[in-house]
Amino acid sequence: MFIVGLTGGIGSGKSAVAKCFEKFGITVVDADQVARQVVAAGTPALKQIAQHFGQDVILDDGSLNRPRLRQIVFANPEQRLWLEQLTHPLIRREIDRLVETATGAYVVLESPLLLESGQNRRVNRVLVVDVSEDMQIARAANRDNNNLDQIRAIINAQMSRAQRMAMADDLIDNSGSLESLESQVEQLHQTYLTLATESRGGSFTPGHGIESIDND
Ligand code: ADP
Repeated sequence: MFIVGLTGGIGSGKSAVAKCFEKFGITVVDADQVARQVVAAGTPALKQIAQHFGQDVILDDGSLNRPRLRQIVFANPEQRLWLEQLTHPLIRREIDRLVETATGAYVVLESPLLLESGQNRRVNRVLVVDVSEDMQIARAANRDNNNLDQIRAIINAQMSRAQRMAMADDLIDNSGSLESLESQVEQLHQTYLTLATESRGGSFTPGHGIESIDND
């Protein structure tokens, strides 16, 4: 499967871009959602976490107390490593499964930490969505009712705009309207259809519909 990795800073518009791809019938695998799923209430991984860190990382409803766990591993690199060694293979395997079962010409992997985590090594194309830091802060604050200090702290912990853009194969400028965003995604969609066909070894010949049907 041809995989497009979609990334960008907080509030840059990753989810908005993902929605556009979905409109074109493309499956979007959300890495954040997978990371939450593998430690959801009742999972074997969450049981191991509770055994290792104690019951106070579990909330009354049986779900993970994320802020508490974050606090523990933030202060302790060894514990962080333990947690990552447990969860990362599970996340990787589940992403692989979702990618393999996706239908459509290609698949989008949406991940805020695509470049930081090394997930970009497993994608065919890196797509970065970019806006100015001021706009990131304004849009994220508007969405989350987050205080500005919290959003700035997240931005500072993420890769810089310049570093991210240097690693991009494709770039979306999301400083304009949602209509402008959609038309940029539409153009990229056409590019990815062509690239995905080429990567399968098929020759894509525009205007020869019968041929491409035969190739299927
Ligand atoms: P991310 O997933 O990168 O954190 P989102 O896609 O959630 O970012 O976008 C952040 C906020 O900005 C959301 O509320 C979204 O609806 C809004 N937004 C995204 N793109 C645009 C745009 N081009 N114009 C106006 N609002 C936008």
